[in-house]
Amino acid sequence: MTSLLPPGGAPMLVGGKLIDGGNGVFATVNPATEEVLGQAADGDAADLDAAVTAARTAFDETDWSRDHAFRAHCLRQLRTALEANLEELRSITIAEAGAPLMFTRGPQLEGPIADLEFAAGLAETYSWETDLGTAAPMGVASHRALRREPVGVVGAITPWNFPHQINFAKLGPALAAGNTLVLKPAPDTPWCAAALGAIIAEHTDIPAGVVNIVTSANHALGAMLTEDPRVDMISFTGSTQTGRAVMRGAASNLKKAFLELGGKSAAIVLDDANLAAAVGVTAFSVCVHAGQGCALTTRLLVPRAVYEQAVEIAAGTMGGITPGDPSAPGTVCGPLISARQRTRVERYLEIARGEGGRIVTGGARPADREHGFFIEPTVIADLTNTATVAREEIFGPVLVVLAHDGDDDAVRLANDSPYGLSGSVWGTDPERIRRVTDRVRTGTLSVNGGVWYSADAPFGGYKQSGIGREMGVAGFEEYLETKLISTAAG
Ligand code: NAD
Repeated sequence: MTSLLPPGGAPMLVGGKLIDGGNGVFATVNPATEEVLGQAADGDAADLDAAVTAARTAFDETDWSRDHAFRAHCLRQLRTALEANLEELRSITIAEAGAPLMFTRGPQLEGPIADLEFAAGLAETYSWETDLGTAAPMGVASHRALRREPVGVVGAITPWNFPHQINFAKLGPALAAGNTLVLKPAPDTPWCAAALGAIIAEHTDIPAGVVNIVTSANHALGAMLTEDPRVDMISFTGSTQTGRAVMRGAASNLKKAFLELGGKSAAIVLDDANLAAAVGVTAFSVCVHAGQGCALTTRLLVPRAVYEQAVEIAAGTMGGITPGDPSAPGTVCGPLISARQRTRVERYLEIARGEGGRIVTGGARPADREHGFFIEPTVIADLTNTATVAREEIFGPVLVVLAHDGDDDAVRLANDSPYGLSGSVWGTDPERIRRVTDRVRTGTLSVNGGVWYSADAPFGGYKQSGIGREMGVAGFEEYLETKLISTAAG
């Protein structure tokens, strides 16, 4: 299906070369059909060691970190090369990640490719040095200059749900800032990362060792990367549980740990909101990519007086979305990524039933799909915020509808969560909305359907949803150190 990747075993990029994995190959599976798409290099500990060595050498022994214009050139060249291979990348993304075609035109592929320009622009225009002027601390007249420099070797560990978006959201700013990189993608989407490696190796001037991509079936490679003393920073996106392990690993040499983790975000519907719009949009969004998005608002908080009405609207919307072939132009809800993920979602549905939840629509595998890891969009009602499905991240097309008793109660419920990634507020009175957005403890909030996702907008979580911000200038600065040079004046 692809000329970028040999189906017998897509190689990985280490030290500027496309190489086979020390552990042979492993299969990558189409989640919509359960068929093996092909093979990917199965990297082992020695491959990871070679990748870190190459990244270390490229950082320590070349001008990469100081040549801002060259880095901007390389990032633009990468963007052009990705665009030249757009249709192949699209078919890999649909087949391997189960990403519906329509979203490859936005955040699953074309958006993140275009966003590389933001990173390239920062490499060119960022103020690397700030003059703090002359002062005489402790009586010594001194001229102070503040410099920003790259952190060094970045280990990037990524999940499968938005493989390109997350790989590029780390690679773009990390390279723009002058770092070198070892990327360890999720075992479920090795081809998306291998295609990036092939394009970098064959179509860009990015020097050998600056980007290394180690695909592997073995999660332990991620742990090894976090513990490697030659790595200066880990940039991780994945579950909160794995994030804890990453932080423990990073503690071994106190490397910087930047974490983008899970979420259980709330949509707050105030009693003056347009109920149909608020509930309809929220219910629809939970079906996007089969609910496999960290920032989706999977808890819907509605005024108690209109609870049944809201449940009906949600069930009407989600019941009308049929999970289907992700390559079909109209598909919103494709498959879950794997049998393991579907089992996880089904376990949560069982727990919800056991705790007294009412499955209003969905709740099962679609009857018309013999193959593929599909699950019906599901609305759960009649639970409170203490229910397991209201507290834990499910990562499937499942919406829990909860009742609130006014604005203060809605804020309390939204914040009564270990997570703080995203959320939304729906209403008509700007002052009331402001009083709510001021008090909700999350990293992003949408008001009346506003979209916060963009290259220049920082994204990330409060509480157990993460540490740090991705994207925007704030996301770029995560990849920088601060150095103060003070020269005796006069
Ligand atoms: P995961 O945590 O299972 O795996 C993520 C990555 O970590 C994979 O590459 C995996 O191989 C690696 N890994 C596993 N164990 C490791 C360890 N001990 N040390 C280091 N690396 C290890 O997550 P997933 O199932 O791939 O993705 C789904 C999760 O990602 C969800 O919780 C979702 O909310 C989260 N996510 C968060 C964001 C965000 O920006 N906040 C974005 C997308 C996904």
